[in-house]
Amino acid sequence: MGAIAIDELRGQARGDVISSEDERYDEARRVYNAMIDRKPAVIVRAANAGDVMAAVNFARENGLDLAIRGGGHSVPGFGTCDGGVVIDLSGMRGVRVDPGASTARAEGGATWGDFNAATYPFGLATTGGIISTTGVAGLTLGGGIGYLTRGFGLSLDNLVSADVVTADGRFLIAGERENEDLFWALRGGGGNFGVVTSFEFRLHPVKDIYGGPMFFELSEVENVLRFFREYIAEAPEQMGAFPAFQIAPPLPFIPEDRHGDTFIAMVACWAGPLDEGEKALQPFHDVAPVVAEHVGPMPYPALNSAFDGLVPPGLQHYWKASFVKELTDEAISAHKANGPDVPVVNSTVHIYPINGAAQRVAPDATAFAYRDANFATVIAGMWPEPSQNEANIAWVRRYYDATAPHSEEGGYVNFMSGDDQSRIKANYRGNYDRLVDVKRKYDPGNLFHLNQNIKP
Ligand SMILES: Cc1cc2nc3c(=O)[nH]c(=O)nc-3n(C[C@H](O)[C@H](O)[C@H](O)COP(=O)(O)OP(=O)(O)OC[C@H]3O[C@@H](n4cnc5c(N)ncnc54)[C@H](O)[C@@H]3O)c2cc1C
Repeated sequence: MGAIAIDELRGQARGDVISSEDERYDEARRVYNAMIDRKPAVIVRAANAGDVMAAVNFARENGLDLAIRGGGHSVPGFGTCDGGVVIDLSGMRGVRVDPGASTARAEGGATWGDFNAATYPFGLATTGGIISTTGVAGLTLGGGIGYLTRGFGLSLDNLVSADVVTADGRFLIAGERENEDLFWALRGGGGNFGVVTSFEFRLHPVKDIYGGPMFFELSEVENVLRFFREYIAEAPEQMGAFPAFQIAPPLPFIPEDRHGDTFIAMVACWAGPLDEGEKALQPFHDVAPVVAEHVGPMPYPALNSAFDGLVPPGLQHYWKASFVKELTDEAISAHKANGPDVPVVNSTVHIYPINGAAQRVAPDATAFAYRDANFATVIAGMWPEPSQNEANIAWVRRYYDATAPHSEEGGYVNFMSGDDQSRIKANYRGNYDRLVDVKRKYDPGNLFHLNQNIKP
């Protein structure tokens, strides 16, 4: 494919079409995980769905690899490729709220920061991730776990419809009443079925929340995790909370002499009435002495961006994940043996509760199959120095190996690295064959294969 073909694409697209001669090329090809260093032939910064159709057709007709980039957070670097086409949606980030219908429509490149900023003034929100720079697209298409999951389900449970450009370059609307099979597969099947240019979400009344992080001594690990397991099983669904192994960053609310020490933390988000917040968080204060905390009332978008500083773009990433039905004493022992070894301040382990609303959706109602899991664990290795790759990857693998016997075979696709493709079938359980059928219908040539791939 030569310069002439790229020029033709330039002629069709409203957005920028960037190739290696362009001085913006190195910046344009960069993704969030600095371990990923790929050189696409062309990056299309789409301005609208028409640009996406042109770029999809261009990749297919020229037999090129095609990578789709929403927020760019994919740990395996699925948002880029070598020698192929990248559709970068970061120029399409608009979010429109319909307060009457309690819905919002987000373009395919919006981040959760964009989304929450747009819905907050209306006192509305939906389930998103815990970091504001993560893309709405990738997070929703794989699942969507965050502070509001227990009350409102996964992000994908709140999807009302999606505008999709399929592998043949067609523009389709997928929802409960049109292209239902595509709509079913999009909700959990990741980027396998097309490029979503716009997402329509159901919103819920959430504005200010009461919450934040609390730090406990490592000697309390068993105490805190055993308490969490019992408490969260019955806790009101307005409570989103998860435990984390975390090295204390140098923040003013943490005593200076404890900066750099490792703690078992609890991050809470009470999305019920604000004046009940202090009482709602009391059980966390009763479980063990709190060494440091930063809890109180705050706008939901403030909590959603509270930890952004710990995970700037440009870190090296290697993650592993599992679904968990019961946090057994053996599982807790495995966490106790490995969590305190968290190597750097950016790395962490989170045990997200996914009981509540997400479990009231049938396992075959969407492609997301693990409706009986109570927790989704992520061992998120994130570190600044490439020279430390080996040690950090070894920690993630060691930790995963210790917890895997106490976990389900499958894990959340969005928390997995590129070497976990062998677990894809297990992730989708009984939904896998139906996903293959939908893939054969909408993408028989597997144009969209840079993802946790469902092969046609
Ligand atoms: C710092 C950090 C925090 C995270 N926190 C959470 C969290 O709290 N909860 C949670 O559930 N997950 C979380 N994740 C995981 C996250 O859900 C995945 O990394 C997700 O894939 C990111 O989506 P993205 O759009 O930012 O990434 P991208 O790299 O842009 O895309 C990821 C995948 O989605 C596909 N894709 C992207 N955009 C589109 C589109 N418009 N149409 C079709 N396919 C598309 C891509 O091809 C790729 O396969 C986090 C990840 C990171 C790095």
